Amino acid sequence: MNLMQITQLFTKTSKTAPAEETSKNAQLLLRAGYIHKEMAGVYAYLPLGLRVLNKIRTIVREEMNQVGSQELIMTNLQPRETWEATRRWDDAVVDVWFKTKLKDETELGLAWSHEEPILKMMQKYVSSYKDLGRELAGSSKGISVYQFQTKLRNELRAKAGIMRGREFVMKDAYSLHSSQADLDEYYEKVKEAYVRIFDRLGLGDDTYMTFASGGAFTKFSHEFQTVCEAGEDRLYLDREQKIGVNEEVLDDAVESLGLNKDKLEKVKSAEVGNIFNFGSEKAEQMGIYYTDENDQKQPIYLASYGVGITRAMGVIAEKFSDEKGLVWPEAVAPFRVYLVQIGDSEGVARAADALYKKLTQQGIEVLWDDRNSKAARAGEKFADSELIGLPWRITISERLIAGNKLELTNRGTGESEVLTTPQVFDKLKTDIIN
Ligand code: ATP
Ligand code: MG
Repeated sequence: MNLMQITQLFTKTSKTAPAEETSKNAQLLLRAGYIHKEMAGVYAYLPLGLRVLNKIRTIVREEMNQVGSQELIMTNLQPRETWEATRRWDDAVVDVWFKTKLKDETELGLAWSHEEPILKMMQKYVSSYKDLGRELAGSSKGISVYQFQTKLRNELRAKAGIMRGREFVMKDAYSLHSSQADLDEYYEKVKEAYVRIFDRLGLGDDTYMTFASGGAFTKFSHEFQTVCEAGEDRLYLDREQKIGVNEEVLDDAVESLGLNKDKLEKVKSAEVGNIFNFGSEKAEQMGIYYTDENDQKQPIYLASYGVGITRAMGVIAEKFSDEKGLVWPEAVAPFRVYLVQIGDSEGVARAADALYKKLTQQGIEVLWDDRNSKAARAGEKFADSELIGLPWRITISERLIAGNKLELTNRGTGESEVLTTPQVFDKLKTDIIN
């Protein structure tokens, strides 16, 4: 759906956020009607918010498809046995499990991650080296799958709005390979895909691929950290070389990368993505093998790749906002244009309706503030438009149509221009190309 009228939208904007909500992202998103707070760390995504999530999902989906990954959806209920061989059911490290029981006392865990369920499932489909020999991206070989899934985690703190949820949407991907070499080759491809994802989301300039702990760190775990005041992580930056190092591995990294510790800049950051190389350890623990060319049993190599979809939305809201509200980048804005009609004359209503249809026909997504002046005064409409934060506002008024003109305002710069309709269309189109 490319169009929506404010009078049809059930959500309302609000001047204030709930007092207990301290994070900027949630305050703005709640006030503008993107999300609903059910409880701390648990948010519903309303029509506007869902549109943003879907834009983010589309970008991630396109880039994952590009590296040969196939979309599926795993289950939210997971039997205890699946996690026993790798000792993660009772692992203190996984302190975020929500666990429950069936009526017959069978123990279940609610999905916090899916490495073990994926491996267990793939055991059904992978028996020979041929099953792991399909080309994925370039010459890299294996099986790659991904999903967008609501993960449930019993997080101790949930004070960062949608950046840390107890229920949140993750894109998790898993790749299976017949050798470490195949895994490494594909891992590089996904790294490149991740760089493209964060670029397209508008976070490229501030996102660093960092070395994180977990195995031999230079090789086995990478995080994508976005510089952000509201972030819970600490990062050391060499901005010139575009290198970021997580605090936890600082000393090791300084040594192995030859960095000058005194020159590094300490910043707050949020982990928007995480990629992890498990090697063959999990398959060995779980007893999951394939048979190679010589009829020998070999363990499957596994890597996993996460992106915090709702966290990315929160980081974007934090970074692209000002005292008036949200300032969405074009790529993830729920609509491109906020169309405001000022005055209740028939001429204005007719002009707005015609423009609304024309924009929509050209594939330009519009949110039309069609409220009459009793429902909302001009000042309130402008304030709502700034709070909701679409990239462009078009204003139609009696005075403007008398001169065959429209006013086009850029949310980011705040600049307004009075233009003819064709000029407005040209401007919106050039902007898509750029
Ligand atoms: P963190 O250190 O922030 O708790 P994590 O290491 O537990 O993250 P992963 O298990 O690797 O995260 O999950 C993959 C991605 O999911 C993370 O990079 C992050 O973007 C996102 N994510 C993790 N936990 C949450 C959460 N509670 N709320 C929102 N997004 C999350
Ligand atoms: Mg965590």
